[in-house]
Amino acid sequence: MFGFLKQVGDYTRDAVDAARNLTQGLAVTFDHMKRRPVTVQYPYEKLIPSERYRGRIHYEFDKCIACEVCVRVCPINLPVVDWVMNKATKKKELRNYSIDFGVCIFCGNCVEYCPTNCLSMTEEYELAAFDRHSLNYDNVALGRLPTSVTTDPSVLPLREFAYLPAGEIDPHVVDPDRPRAGKRPDQLLAAMKSAAAVSTLDAGESTTVSTDRKESAE
Ligand code: SF4
Ligand code: SF4
Repeated sequence: MFGFLKQVGDYTRDAVDAARNLTQGLAVTFDHMKRRPVTVQYPYEKLIPSERYRGRIHYEFDKCIACEVCVRVCPINLPVVDWVMNKATKKKELRNYSIDFGVCIFCGNCVEYCPTNCLSMTEEYELAAFDRHSLNYDNVALGRLPTSVTTDPSVLPLREFAYLPAGEIDPHVVDPDRPRAGKRPDQLLAAMKSAAAVSTLDAGESTTVSTDRKESAE
């Protein structure tokens, strides 16, 4: 008899617990429905890529010396450097340079090791094409100025989490003019210099005061 009553009691307690947990879960869910969605509404809103974002590679034909370092450091020896040796001047003459972005893994090794800085990474990430052969960029296509999220009038640029002011987590509600968290090295240096100047001034004043006191005592 007592065993049966204990079973009924346990069952009732479990049922009440389950109902309470369910209600708590639903309360959390309905509470979330009141919050602003964190969704970035691409393509009308776009996140601004970070300052070291590795997007489409930009190339400057005039600076290239055809050393082929970019080819040697590339994990798949991808850049194609087409040059001929001018026997009269004993110099390499560059004819064409191309990178196939259908194969590139955007590791940035070529940019890192180029001795003349003629390669750079851009923030361009929209490279979709219907034909993969059109992803093989020659030196003209590589030299095109990159698109930018911040200069596109049809797009609302939003800052990524690392670029928000301290304590903020949603870029939608942050004033674009508010600076990101922390200080730049030059701001820190200026603050340190002004603090040092103030402390020197204070020390000078206290020396003057003590000298005055000595003089008056004499
Ligand atoms: S490393 Fe730079 S300079 Fe050398 S071939 Fe490549 S792009 Fe040209
Ligand atoms: S980004 Fe990497 S994979 Fe692409 S061309 Fe440069 S070194 Fe090669």
